[in-house]
Amino acid sequence: MPLLLNVDKALAQILDDMQPLDSESVALAESLDRIIANGIAAPLDLPPFDNSAMDGYAIRHEDSVDASPQHPATFRVTQDISAGAAPTGSLQPGQAARIMTGAPVPTGCSAVAPVEDSDDNWRKGSNPAPPQQVQIYSSYAFGANIRRKGENIECGATIMRAGTIIQPAEIGMLAAIGCARFEVLRKPKVVILGSGDELVDVHEPLGAGKIRDTNSYTLAGLIRQAGGIPIRLPIARDNLSEIRALYRRALGINPDMIISSAGVSVGAADLVREVMDELGDIDFWRINMRPGKPLAYGALRGIPFFGLPGNPVSTMVTFEVLVRPALAKLAGRALHRKTIRATVAEDMRSDGRRSYDRVRLSREGSGIVAHSTGSQSSGALMSMLLADGLVIIPEGQRLVPAGSELPVLLLRAFE
Ligand code: AMP
Ligand code: MG
Repeated sequence: MPLLLNVDKALAQILDDMQPLDSESVALAESLDRIIANGIAAPLDLPPFDNSAMDGYAIRHEDSVDASPQHPATFRVTQDISAGAAPTGSLQPGQAARIMTGAPVPTGCSAVAPVEDSDDNWRKGSNPAPPQQVQIYSSYAFGANIRRKGENIECGATIMRAGTIIQPAEIGMLAAIGCARFEVLRKPKVVILGSGDELVDVHEPLGAGKIRDTNSYTLAGLIRQAGGIPIRLPIARDNLSEIRALYRRALGINPDMIISSAGVSVGAADLVREVMDELGDIDFWRINMRPGKPLAYGALRGIPFFGLPGNPVSTMVTFEVLVRPALAKLAGRALHRKTIRATVAEDMRSDGRRSYDRVRLSREGSGIVAHSTGSQSSGALMSMLLADGLVIIPEGQRLVPAGSELPVLLLRAFE
């Protein structure tokens, strides 16, 4: 048997070839889950001015010394400052300004007494004119209930580092600093190709000998999940001119990656190989993995290309093992993927290649047990629907006795 390429070596070469993408500008409202391309510093203080944390009365704190319900401090109300308004003058001794939460405090103000702590029983919302005088029932320390300019963020401070994934809080902060558009890493645009005389699209009737194209749909889902933008092209018939036209069309889109399924098995390879030789530099790899031994990899006119095996499970598993990490590198994203250890519930067999068998996981006692999802045929897509993960049987091992512990690559969250 000719030497098979080790999975880790294949992945290392693939990752070495991937160049992270450049950036593009995005509008704030469209930026959720995007990745900030450059660090962002605050161009202003936040809050931008000293303001009141309460609805109440802005005072000079020293005027409230010793105030209590029995001996209130009395103030003359000289201003009424609502949120969004500017103070009209500074506070003199014995003066107070009625003030709303978020309104700028006047010069001279060194504390805000909440309205609940005064004899003013104004109800929120009715907003009558302020009283001429107000009594305050406690004393306040310097700065009480005042939010200081810059106490949240000082002008010039870094608020987000390059590589931050934008979540709602980041969106809020970017709005606060007036950042309406900014640079984020571009999402990889990935063209999906397929070919086969037997394949019909989902809405077409099944004629004799036909099956529906599933791979272009599963790939589109996987690509989107990995942060890419999938572009599905119609399936080509098994002839040179259609396959050539399809690949030319893919290149015309100028994508960041091209993924084809089918066409790399022994019987099918020749047609695709001819087109590959015309358009790029593609190696036909025989990888030491199951499923997924035959796989074409390289570049078409400089664009990274994967020719994945056509059987639906092989397509998905090779995507998980080799393409998802490549896409993550293009997209500048960490590959959030977990491998856990589990005990296999029943004997498992392999042919000596590194095998990725589909398993359902369950927590039993203090450990995690992996059960086969049934037929592991590379055409049995049901095995993927039922799978929580892929148990990895190392190369060289043909029998895994029940009770052995092996790594499982999680396909979905498992708590
Ligand atoms: P091939 O590499 O063309 O010999 O295909 C290998 C197997 O994968 C065959 O059974 C094909 O019918 C199947 N296959 C290829 N492409 C697809 C597809 N897009 N959807 C579903 N099955 C496919
Ligand atoms: Mg085919």
